[in-house]
Amino acid sequence: MELDNHAEDLASDLGIDKEEVKADLQNLVEYSVPVDEAKQSLRRKYGDGSSGGGGTPSSKEIDEITPDDGNVTVTGVVLTAGKRSIRYQGDDHVIVEGRLADETGAIDYTAWEDFGLSAGDTITAGNAGVREWDGEPELNLGESTSLSFEEDSIDLPADVADKIGGESQLADLQTGDRAVTVDVTVVECERRTIDGRDGETEILSGVFGDESGRLPFTNWDPAPEIEDGGTVRIENAYVQEFRGVPEVNVSEFSTVTALERDIDVGADATTMAVGEAVRTGGVYDVEVDGNVLAVREGSGLIQRCPECYRVIQKGQCRTHGDVDGIDDLRVKAILDDGTGTVTVVLDDELTQDVYGGTLEEALEQAREAMDQEVVADTIRERIVGREYRVRGHLSVDEYGANLDAESFEESDDDPEARATAFLEEVNA
Ligand SMILES: [Zn+2]
Repeated sequence: MELDNHAEDLASDLGIDKEEVKADLQNLVEYSVPVDEAKQSLRRKYGDGSSGGGGTPSSKEIDEITPDDGNVTVTGVVLTAGKRSIRYQGDDHVIVEGRLADETGAIDYTAWEDFGLSAGDTITAGNAGVREWDGEPELNLGESTSLSFEEDSIDLPADVADKIGGESQLADLQTGDRAVTVDVTVVECERRTIDGRDGETEILSGVFGDESGRLPFTNWDPAPEIEDGGTVRIENAYVQEFRGVPEVNVSEFSTVTALERDIDVGADATTMAVGEAVRTGGVYDVEVDGNVLAVREGSGLIQRCPECYRVIQKGQCRTHGDVDGIDDLRVKAILDDGTGTVTVVLDDELTQDVYGGTLEEALEQAREAMDQEVVADTIRERIVGREYRVRGHLSVDEYGANLDAESFEESDDDPEARATAFLEEVNA
């Protein structure tokens, strides 16, 4: 739905001017507040009669709460409580996000006031708002919520109790996770200057690793403990999607502690079927097997803009116009394993491997043929119809799934042997 329609919706629900509500909505969305959250927040601001009034809400167990509940009273154990700063109408607001659990289940919550929640607390939230997020109910703890801390704790199932404090392995983290705790090795780390919303700021970015795998991270308020090769415990981090894959965000509210012990970084990527990997919406460091069906246009010898490094067509950059292109090599190959397809992107080095020559040799071949397409044709002849094992970072956008390859190797698996092994497993 367009922002305009959302504004109209809100304006008619709340009985206020559409332009006013649209300006507010625009403002929130510009600061990356999800549109549902922004609408909810404006309903509160303008006093939506449907939430707040309506008598005393009923007490519910967590698995009974549905997105249709207006308000509920619920008792549970705080599994996680993580602070995060959002900017709303020009001011920074600190919100607390996490999960609450009882014997029956667990639910995400957002606290708009500082109730002093911490992991392990047992609380009763009276008159908590319920909203729908991604089809699931979530709790809003705000001004109209009465919150009390209970003396008696609740007996949580053991697997749920284990989640108090949010300790996780990198491989289990997903976009949207809040208040997570991880013990990691800093595999890569670089200091960068970015143009932030408050001018130029220094940040750290790189890759964390643990026994389960690796994930990229950004540290918005550089912690001295985060340095190449170091091991650290990070508490209260959140996971957000960046360039199509989950990324660990270490904020000003996160706690970073240097660890004395070593953490081995798992060398194995997760192996998945292509269809399964695509359905996750994005995975960092995944391995898939499949057949190369085709080599797409824009492969082989290509030219990039010297300003923005994007691929140009006939000397024209979409942003910078007429430019003197830089020659480069890359491959965009369509890989299929029967469960799905993905476009595998090979960088210049991997392209040299499959082409069997250097950039100079590719330029020479193109000059002789007076056609640079011959380079892509050579690559086509070498890889189409063959089976490869590809490891890299998979992202999904509106145009489909891309796998940025870190390695691209012809499978030595004998397909017949694999089929036999599969059948044995099925029949076992
Ligand atoms: Zn450009």
